[in-house]
Formats: sequence, C-alpha cells, structure tokens
Amino acid sequence: MLNLWFTEEWTPECRFSIKIKEHFHTEKSPFQQLDFFDSYEFGKFFTLDGIMMANEKDEFVYHDMISHVALATNPNIKKVLVIGGGDGGTVREITRYSHIEKIDMVEIDERVVRLCQKYLVQTSCKLEDPRVNLYFQDGLKFVEDAKEKSYDLILVDSTDPIGPGEGLFTKKFYTNCFRALSEDGILINQHESPYFDKEAGQMKRAHKRIKDLFPISKVYQFHIPTYPSGHWLFGFASKKYDPIADHKPEEWEKFGLKTKYYNSEIHKASFALPTFVKEMLEES
Ligand code: SAM
Repeated sequence: MLNLWFTEEWTPECRFSIKIKEHFHTEKSPFQQLDFFDSYEFGKFFTLDGIMMANEKDEFVYHDMISHVALATNPNIKKVLVIGGGDGGTVREITRYSHIEKIDMVEIDERVVRLCQKYLVQTSCKLEDPRVNLYFQDGLKFVEDAKEKSYDLILVDSTDPIGPGEGLFTKKFYTNCFRALSEDGILINQHESPYFDKEAGQMKRAHKRIKDLFPISKVYQFHIPTYPSGHWLFGFASKKYDPIADHKPEEWEKFGLKTKYYNSEIHKASFALPTFVKEMLEES
C-alpha cells in the first residue's frame, strides 16, 4: 500500500495533509514551482510553491463566491477583468452569464494555464469561450496600462501576498483598479484567512488601502476545507453599489444558474462577520 501524503505548512506550527494517489507533474516556471497531484479525498489538485490552489472537490466554493456576489449586486456588469485565475475556474463561472460581453484574464504564468488545460479540465473548460481574451503578463502592469473606466468588474484571483502576487496587494495596484473601473464598478479581492497572519499584518494594510480609495468597502466570508483554517475572506469594494442594500436576488435568480455553494441567503449571510474579524478589520 502506498502511503504518500501532500503536506502544506499553514504556519510553522500547523500543517494540513492530504493522502495522495500520485504526484504526476512537477516543474519550475520562471515564476514559481508547479505541482499536480491526484488524491483520494479531493480528486486532482495543484499547488504553487507548495500552496493549494484548486482541487476538484471544493473549488466550486471559491469560484462561486468570487464571481456571483458581484453579479447579483450589479446585474449590468458587461466587461470583466480577471487577474491571476490561471486554473480558469473564475472565468468558467463568469461565462455562465450570457449578457457578459468581454472577459479579459491576465495571468503572469502561462504554464499554470497550459497545465490546467491539460490536467484540470473541470476548472479550465471555458477558457476558449469567444468572449475570453488571455494575456500572459503581470496584472500590476496590465491594470496600470488599462484605459480609464474600461471594466465593470475586476476579480483579483491571485496567489498570496508573497512571490509574484505581492504587487497585487499594493496601493498602486488598487489605485489603478479604481481608475480602470466604470462609475458603478466593483472590485473583488483576496483577504486571506482571519486565523493566520502569515504576512505580519499585510492583509489588514491591504484592506485599509482599499477602504481609503473606494466609497464602499466590505468583507465577506466563506468556508472551504483546503485553504488555511477553512475560513476565507474576500473584499468587496465598489464605487456605487452596496452588496447588501443593492443586492438584487430576484434579478439574479432570473439568470437561472444552478450553483452549488452560492445562493441569495448565502449572499446576505456572508457579510455577517464574527466579532474577531470585525475587530481585526476595524483596526486596519
Ligand atoms: N484560488 C487560488 C488561491 O487563492 O489559492 C488562486 C488561484 S490562481 C491559480 C492564482 C494565480 O495568480 C496563479 O496562477 C499565479 O500565477 C497568478 N498570479 C500571481 N501573481 C500574479 C500577477 N502579478 N499577475 C497576474 N497573475 C498573477
């Protein structure tokens, strides 16, 4: 009997392990270390620099929550920019809306996309939708060069604020996102886990940078077993729409989408935060 395990270090004192069937691909790109595995509990999955990115069992949680909250708040979103997101799961969810006209995806590492197209078809299956344009470059630079008010929604589907993703948590980046968003534009971005502060206050500082720029800035939560602590946060920042006051469940339900995690009750509930998370954000 094989007894192979993938282990991710959540902190120097806390680790998470998955029993694997096979470690079937490994390579180093100019940006990061890429590894693909097959497992008993979570199906196929891949890691970047040893950190879980997406697996067949729970990717739906993350991709539902990064996509549908904004679309149920502003159903008129037509032009979308995805930054990172190389596995294609976020693009897959956005392509489900027939009224979306354009989806630009900017991924720094082409190898992530190519390997997910080969090994993780469940997430990458819509990258060839005719509305999708793939750009292989740094999202930081792409947003800097983007035309003013050219997107209605920016989804930052990035890695953690270390390595190539670091620039996507800076004031410069958020300022350029603000400029690139239309008058009723929305920005969704990673806020990591409230339990582990691996980057010494990096997330709180990033939250403050967004709060200082956008008139509406909220945080919402969801539960995903394979991300550190299983409790994850996204930021919702907007120039006009409030995700609770302007939430349009009836309009969203007219789209007729079947979702496995997101629903209109979850939308509202996800903005109700535990006291320790609220306090942490207030301190920022
Ligand atoms: N759901 C994932 C998570 O939080 O674990 C994120 C998945 S997605 C694979 C993250 C992608 O962001 C990676 O493929 C990485 O190459 C990309 N990325 C990191 N920094 C970037 C940058 N500066 N510009 C564009 N893409 C970037």
